[in-house]
Amino acid sequence: MKVIFLGTAASKPTKDRGLSSIAIQYKSDVVLFDCGENAQRQMISLIKPSKISSIFLTHFHGDHILGIPGLLMTMSLNERKDPLSIYGPEKTVYFIKNLLRGGYFGISFDVHIKELKDKDVVDFEDFYIQAFETKHGIPSLGYIFKEKDRRGSFIENKAKELGIKGKMFSELERKGEIIINGKKIKLEDVTGPKKIGRSIVYTGDTLPLDIPFRGCDLLIHDGTFLTDEDRNGTFHSTVKEACEAALRIEAKKLVLTHISQRYTSDEIQKEALKYFENAIVAEDFTVIEL
Ligand SMILES: [Zn+2]
Ligand SMILES: [Zn+2]
Repeated sequence: MKVIFLGTAASKPTKDRGLSSIAIQYKSDVVLFDCGENAQRQMISLIKPSKISSIFLTHFHGDHILGIPGLLMTMSLNERKDPLSIYGPEKTVYFIKNLLRGGYFGISFDVHIKELKDKDVVDFEDFYIQAFETKHGIPSLGYIFKEKDRRGSFIENKAKELGIKGKMFSELERKGEIIINGKKIKLEDVTGPKKIGRSIVYTGDTLPLDIPFRGCDLLIHDGTFLTDEDRNGTFHSTVKEACEAALRIEAKKLVLTHISQRYTSDEIQKEALKYFENAIVAEDFTVIEL
């Protein structure tokens, strides 16, 4: 499982940073979070557009969505047939339809658009994505990417002792329990501790807020500004606030993104390390393996 930062700038692109877009590659599936202008060029040699099954948008500021028409056009030129799902906050249907009406794009595949609200969950086979409301002055969502927990391995000796053999294993797995010689045996009785799935939280653009998930492996947080003065009333977080959020939810690692062009990465990094030791500043093409 890989997290690939395709664009890490705030609002305007710079020489070194493109506009917001993050890809999570899980096995052969890719889920894109935000799709700023030029995201498709940033993914060349890293991600095949055909692998992207869905796009989750945090909000409809231009720096998070203007890469969509171009990306979909490339998918069409590649003769994509698989449907693509696009999720986002309220008005997503209206805005995406407008974006795709902006020219003769001739999209060759179905685009399913769905609006999400706080706590909505989109279920995938091995993971789910849950939306939570953020504070950005317009309808906006953050997302929790959670790999599903898996059962522990069978403890062979114990299973044998209790008389489980052959097809009984698959029956036990399917039903969660099985009766042998009148005795009920539960799956937990003969398996080791369950394997907790990996988890990533992405806030998108936001003021500090209560993130409804604890102990994530990775928190990707808005870290646009160094000071409240620079923030100047906009709906973004400072680096210190992002670090406080990481401490509050006991995140194992923090990645700061949406970096204002007025700072160098070193300045952001130095500030972050004052408050949270496992913090890094995202650069375009940073790849984090989990
Ligand atoms: Zn933004
Ligand atoms: Zn924004």
